[in-house]
Amino acid sequence: MRDWDGEAVISRFDRETGAWIFIALHSTALGPALGGTRMRVYPTPADGLRDAQRLAESMTMKWATLEQPKGGGKAVLAIPGPLDAEARNGLLRRYASIVESLRGAFGTGEDLGTTPEDMALLASVTRYVHGVEGGRVTDPGPFTARGVRRGIEAAVRAVLERDDLRGVTVLVQGVGDVGYPLAQELVELGARLLVSDVDAGRLERAVTTLGATVVPPEEVWDADCDVFAPCAIGGVLSAATIPRLRCRIVAGSANAQLDTPDDEQRLHEHGIVYVPDYVVNSGGAYAFALHGRGEHDHATLFEKMDHVGDIVAAVLAEATAEGRSPLEAAARRAQRTLAAGRSTAT
Ligand code: NAD
Repeated sequence: MRDWDGEAVISRFDRETGAWIFIALHSTALGPALGGTRMRVYPTPADGLRDAQRLAESMTMKWATLEQPKGGGKAVLAIPGPLDAEARNGLLRRYASIVESLRGAFGTGEDLGTTPEDMALLASVTRYVHGVEGGRVTDPGPFTARGVRRGIEAAVRAVLERDDLRGVTVLVQGVGDVGYPLAQELVELGARLLVSDVDAGRLERAVTTLGATVVPPEEVWDADCDVFAPCAIGGVLSAATIPRLRCRIVAGSANAQLDTPDDEQRLHEHGIVYVPDYVVNSGGAYAFALHGRGEHDHATLFEKMDHVGDIVAAVLAEATAEGRSPLEAAARRAQRTLAAGRSTAT
């Protein structure tokens, strides 16, 4: 706790299941905290706490990047092992009543390890769940995908100096809730689509419905493409993989794509432009923030995802103009917004 620059962590030990509940509030400089609820087994409860703190901080950066009146927060339910349905629902209900007791200081949505059904259950206990309307849960995946598509278009314009994606080769790693709708949009725009996944059924869907070319998971790093879009897991950009990459741009939805902070410099040295993950994958969060403000029309929400492309374009332009990396430019942009928010608040 001492080494973290966030505001507060609400923690509770759930005796019935042996789970730890951590709600990390990193910064409320721009507004009340909003971030997902993650449920997983961690090596120790301290690892769960650290994950909540780290994720809450990245939500602060995401909201500031989007210039939304929201604060950075994240909840972690660190379970001791798999729970049966009754125990799991009991934990979720008790967690929801803590969220309710915070009276809006923290709002939440789906994240790793939680499902749309979990969100509907939370919403039956607390008002502070985003993306649930009359028991119906909105899937953030297609909104995140639309934001990534707009981000890819902006990066292709800036880096390849191309006005559209016709004939541009994009490799989508992971054709799940984000990767598949992204792949659909890319094909509609005339891109040449390569896909990779460890799930045979998901690969099959991409091949039969989109005519995609399959790249085996271990060959992803060596595939010839213009854009690499990691939409599966974190830590994929590392000292081992970057020297093998044959793309010009990395832009995808996966969180925490860089294995270490040095990897951005490594990408730069290899002539690859990295679009910061928390910028290009912000569409789902943005849609939830707009949803929470009463915008429920999906067509309008999709249109508003253009904002993500505008931000990517601004970040890349600022990076070029100031001789900085896109990651530095994005962080400076977010810090400026946070500083301005803080000064208006005081
Ligand atoms: P998902 O679980 O629906 O899809 C992930 C896909 O990646 C699955 O099909 C899985 O089989 C595949 N995969 C796993 N390991 C792989 C590997 N080594 N190689 C190739 N494929 C692999 O998840 P999602 O919701 O689509 O999210 C994808 C990523 O985007 C995650 O990192 C997530 O944190 C991030 N993200 C998602 C959203 C959202 O709105 N869902 C928003 C922001 C960020």
